[in-house]
Amino acid sequence: MKLTISVFALALVLAGIALAAGPAAAPPKGKSPVIEKIVKTDAEWKKLLTSEQYKVLREHGTERAFTSPLNDNHQKGVFVCAACGLPLFSSEQKFNSGTGWPSFWAPIDPTHVGTSTDRSFFQTRTEVHCARCGGHLGHVFPDGPPPTGLRYCMNGVSLKFEAAK
Ligand SMILES: [Zn+2]
Repeated sequence: MKLTISVFALALVLAGIALAAGPAAAPPKGKSPVIEKIVKTDAEWKKLLTSEQYKVLREHGTERAFTSPLNDNHQKGVFVCAACGLPLFSSEQKFNSGTGWPSFWAPIDPTHVGTSTDRSFFQTRTEVHCARCGGHLGHVFPDGPPPTGLRYCMNGVSLKFEAAK
Protein backbone atom coordinates (compact mmCIF):
# COMPACT_ATOMS: atom_id res chain seq x y z
CA MET A 1 0.00 0.00 0.00
CA LYS A 2 2.82 2.33 0.94
CA LEU A 3 4.45 1.58 -2.42
CA THR A 4 1.24 2.52 -4.26
CA ILE A 5 1.18 5.90 -2.51
CA SER A 6 4.80 6.70 -3.30
CA VAL A 7 4.32 5.74 -6.97
CA PHE A 8 1.31 8.06 -7.02
CA ALA A 9 3.37 10.86 -5.43
CA LEU A 10 6.13 10.35 -8.01
CA ALA A 11 3.58 10.60 -10.82
CA LEU A 12 2.35 13.90 -9.38
CA VAL A 13 5.90 15.27 -9.24
CA LEU A 14 6.55 14.26 -12.85
CA ALA A 15 3.28 15.83 -13.98
CA GLY A 16 4.33 19.03 -12.20
CA ILE A 17 7.65 19.06 -14.05
CA ALA A 18 5.87 18.56 -17.39
CA LEU A 19 3.55 21.50 -16.66
CA ALA A 20 6.43 23.74 -15.54
CA ALA A 21 8.25 23.07 -18.85
CA GLY A 22 5.11 24.44 -20.52
CA PRO A 23 4.59 25.34 -24.18
CA ALA A 24 7.37 27.14 -26.08
CA ALA A 25 7.29 30.96 -26.06
CA ALA A 26 5.22 32.55 -28.83
CA PRO A 27 7.28 33.66 -31.90
CA PRO A 28 7.97 37.41 -32.16
CA LYS A 29 5.39 39.33 -34.15
CA GLY A 30 6.23 41.35 -37.27
CA LYS A 31 6.51 45.11 -36.83
CA SER A 32 4.50 47.38 -39.09
CA PRO A 33 2.87 50.25 -37.19
CA VAL A 34 1.97 52.26 -40.31
CA ILE A 35 -0.10 49.70 -42.21
CA GLU A 36 -3.65 49.02 -41.12
CA LYS A 37 -4.09 45.27 -40.76
CA ILE A 38 -6.61 43.14 -42.63
CA VAL A 39 -7.92 40.28 -40.49
CA LYS A 40 -10.08 37.52 -41.96
CA THR A 41 -11.05 34.03 -40.84
CA ASP A 42 -9.59 30.95 -42.53
CA ALA A 43 -12.98 30.34 -44.17
CA GLU A 44 -13.01 33.87 -45.62
CA TRP A 45 -9.48 33.50 -47.01
CA LYS A 46 -10.40 30.11 -48.50
CA LYS A 47 -13.16 31.80 -50.50
CA LEU A 48 -10.85 34.56 -51.76
CA LEU A 49 -7.76 32.53 -52.64
CA THR A 50 -7.04 29.58 -54.93
CA SER A 51 -6.04 26.39 -53.08
CA GLU A 52 -2.41 26.93 -54.14
CA GLN A 53 -2.43 30.54 -52.88
CA TYR A 54 -4.12 29.47 -49.63
CA LYS A 55 -1.52 26.75 -49.02
CA VAL A 56 1.37 29.23 -49.31
CA LEU A 57 -0.13 32.47 -47.95
CA ARG A 58 -2.13 31.07 -45.02
CA GLU A 59 -0.35 27.77 -44.25
CA HIS A 60 3.27 28.81 -44.87
CA GLY A 61 3.68 26.42 -47.78
CA THR A 62 6.40 26.70 -50.42
CA GLU A 63 5.71 26.44 -54.15
CA ARG A 64 7.93 24.14 -56.19
CA ALA A 65 10.99 25.93 -57.60
CA PHE A 66 10.81 27.15 -61.23
CA THR A 67 6.99 26.86 -61.31
CA SER A 68 6.04 30.54 -61.05
CA PRO A 69 5.78 32.54 -64.29
CA LEU A 70 6.89 35.56 -62.23
CA ASN A 71 10.32 33.96 -61.79
CA ASP A 72 11.23 34.87 -65.39
CA ASN A 73 9.18 38.06 -65.52
CA HIS A 74 11.56 40.92 -66.39
CA GLN A 75 8.98 43.58 -67.24
CA LYS A 76 8.86 46.89 -65.43
CA GLY A 77 6.17 47.03 -62.76
CA VAL A 78 5.12 46.29 -59.24
CA PHE A 79 4.58 42.98 -57.45
CA VAL A 80 1.60 43.24 -55.08
CA CYS A 81 0.30 40.86 -52.41
CA ALA A 82 -1.91 38.23 -54.09
CA ALA A 83 -4.24 38.27 -51.07
CA CYS A 84 -4.73 41.98 -50.33
CA GLY A 85 -3.07 43.94 -53.17
CA LEU A 86 -0.51 45.82 -51.06
CA PRO A 87 2.53 46.78 -53.22
CA LEU A 88 5.44 44.66 -51.93
CA PHE A 89 8.28 44.61 -54.48
CA SER A 90 9.30 46.54 -57.58
CA SER A 91 10.93 45.22 -60.76
CA GLU A 92 13.72 47.71 -59.91
CA GLN A 93 14.80 45.48 -57.01
CA LYS A 94 14.30 42.14 -58.76
CA PHE A 95 17.34 40.06 -59.66
CA ASN A 96 18.01 36.61 -61.08
CA SER A 97 19.03 34.48 -58.10
CA GLY A 98 19.00 31.19 -60.02
CA THR A 99 16.99 29.59 -57.18
CA GLY A 100 13.77 29.17 -59.14
CA TRP A 101 11.84 31.66 -56.99
CA PRO A 102 11.28 35.38 -57.70
CA SER A 103 14.04 37.19 -55.77
CA PHE A 104 14.47 40.80 -54.70
CA TRP A 105 17.21 42.63 -52.81
CA ALA A 106 14.74 44.92 -51.00
CA PRO A 107 10.97 45.43 -50.58
CA ILE A 108 9.32 48.43 -52.24
CA ASP A 109 8.80 49.89 -48.74
CA PRO A 110 10.26 48.36 -45.55
CA THR A 111 6.96 48.93 -43.71
CA HIS A 112 5.04 46.83 -46.27
CA VAL A 113 6.62 43.55 -45.15
CA GLY A 114 7.01 42.02 -41.72
CA THR A 115 9.40 39.30 -40.57
CA SER A 116 9.40 36.57 -37.94
CA THR A 117 11.79 33.84 -36.88
CA ASP A 118 11.02 30.49 -38.49
CA ARG A 119 12.57 27.49 -36.73
CA SER A 120 10.95 24.75 -38.84
CA PHE A 121 12.97 22.06 -40.65
CA PHE A 122 15.72 22.16 -37.98
CA GLN A 123 17.06 25.53 -39.13
CA THR A 124 16.55 29.18 -38.21
CA ARG A 125 15.30 31.31 -41.09
CA THR A 126 13.67 34.72 -41.31
CA GLU A 127 10.11 34.39 -42.54
CA VAL A 128 8.65 37.28 -44.59
CA HIS A 129 4.95 38.17 -44.68
CA CYS A 130 2.67 40.92 -45.96
CA ALA A 131 2.41 43.65 -43.31
CA ARG A 132 -1.27 44.23 -44.07
CA CYS A 133 -2.88 40.77 -44.27
CA GLY A 134 -0.14 38.67 -42.64
CA GLY A 135 0.04 36.40 -45.72
CA HIS A 136 3.24 34.33 -45.89
CA LEU A 137 5.47 35.40 -48.81
CA GLY A 138 8.75 33.54 -48.36
CA HIS A 139 12.05 34.05 -46.53
CA VAL A 140 14.90 36.56 -46.53
CA PHE A 141 18.54 35.42 -46.58
CA PRO A 142 21.79 37.37 -46.05
CA ASP A 143 23.37 36.23 -49.35
CA GLY A 144 21.87 38.73 -51.80
CA PRO A 145 23.55 41.25 -54.13
CA PRO A 146 24.50 44.89 -53.33
CA PRO A 147 23.41 47.35 -52.17
CA THR A 148 21.63 45.51 -49.34
CA GLY A 149 23.22 42.05 -49.47
CA LEU A 150 19.76 40.60 -48.88
CA ARG A 151 17.84 38.03 -50.89
CA TYR A 152 14.07 38.12 -50.48
CA CYS A 153 13.19 34.65 -51.79
CA MET A 154 9.47 34.87 -52.58
CA ASN A 155 6.78 32.44 -53.63
CA GLY A 156 5.43 33.70 -56.96
CA VAL A 157 1.98 32.41 -56.00
CA SER A 158 1.90 34.96 -53.13
CA LEU A 159 2.44 37.82 -55.59
CA LYS A 160 0.52 39.42 -58.45
CA PHE A 161 2.34 41.46 -61.08
CA GLU A 162 1.05 44.83 -62.22
CA ALA A 163 2.92 46.09 -65.29
CA ALA A 164 4.00 49.74 -65.35
CA LYS A 165 1.92 51.87 -67.71
ZN1 LIG B 1 -1.35 41.13 -48.09
